[in-house]
Amino acid sequence: MTQSSAFHYLAHGGTPFFRLPTATPGEPKGARAVLLGVPTDAGTTYQPGARLAPYHVRRVSALVNGFHPLHRLDPFERLRAVDGGNVVFPPFDAAAMRASVCASVGSVLAAGATPFLCGGDHSITLPTLRAMRDAFGPVAVVHVDAHADTSGPETWGEAYHHGTPLRHALSEGLIAEGGLMQIGLRAPYPNAEAGDFAARRGALVVPAEAVSERGAREIGAILRDRVRDLPCYVTIDVDGIDPAFAPGTGTPVPGGLTPREVFTLLRALAGVRLVGMDVVEICPALDHADLTSHLGAHLLYEGLALAALRVEAGG
Ligand code: MN
Ligand code: MN
Repeated sequence: MTQSSAFHYLAHGGTPFFRLPTATPGEPKGARAVLLGVPTDAGTTYQPGARLAPYHVRRVSALVNGFHPLHRLDPFERLRAVDGGNVVFPPFDAAAMRASVCASVGSVLAAGATPFLCGGDHSITLPTLRAMRDAFGPVAVVHVDAHADTSGPETWGEAYHHGTPLRHALSEGLIAEGGLMQIGLRAPYPNAEAGDFAARRGALVVPAEAVSERGAREIGAILRDRVRDLPCYVTIDVDGIDPAFAPGTGTPVPGGLTPREVFTLLRALAGVRLVGMDVVEICPALDHADLTSHLGAHLLYEGLALAALRVEAGG
């Protein structure tokens, strides 16, 4: 069970993530990693369209070959990774989305596999972290974003949307003490309370300019030390990356990270116990030349490589 060859992929015409075999959710059949699409944008506050990202990321992810140039392994092979399809729910029903995502992620974890989610807007991360807490207890969270995602209900008159998942995750005790690390932040806050919410609860907040001033390698080492041996979840909102590199997103903010900085941060996490990952907020309708979808595929690939590092060859 590994990637089909580029030529075979050309012949059969299907578009699973990374040319992987497809599997029924909940039945990964020995897989150690399951890719899931979450086609929702019911939580967006500005330009919608992220619900179509799983289709576009699947299409362009066919270009990503297996062997990692730095980590020196093939994560698809090592993890026996599969495409578990999409999590399904009425696409405009945010509460149904939360229930379905929590159940689907829980079933992947119960089968002994690591879930890799392609959103969807950032509201998918709250139910995912609930499933993580149920399986592992409170986890460390590495969160790349332009926004803190700790808005209160007063901002939009609604408690659950793509600007609030980390607020709920902290309030519900889903994140370990001091375990939230937010990197790339630069957007103005709705108010001071929302802006300070995470830091007051022990989060490490690394604004985008601190990454360029201190260097991604140094910041990556700080993250690695902070995660220690905690189960670690990685959530990447593509608007953390500068809109020059990731134009296909609904709430772009100038002054962001470069893709290379984010790859360096992720590669610096080698050795952590990665228990899950999501890449969210890719909006194909706003994209140019599939740049943001290609970036999303490569970010997921780096996460798969981190998970593979913890699995014995042939294990
Ligand atoms: Mn954001
Ligand atoms: Mn976000």
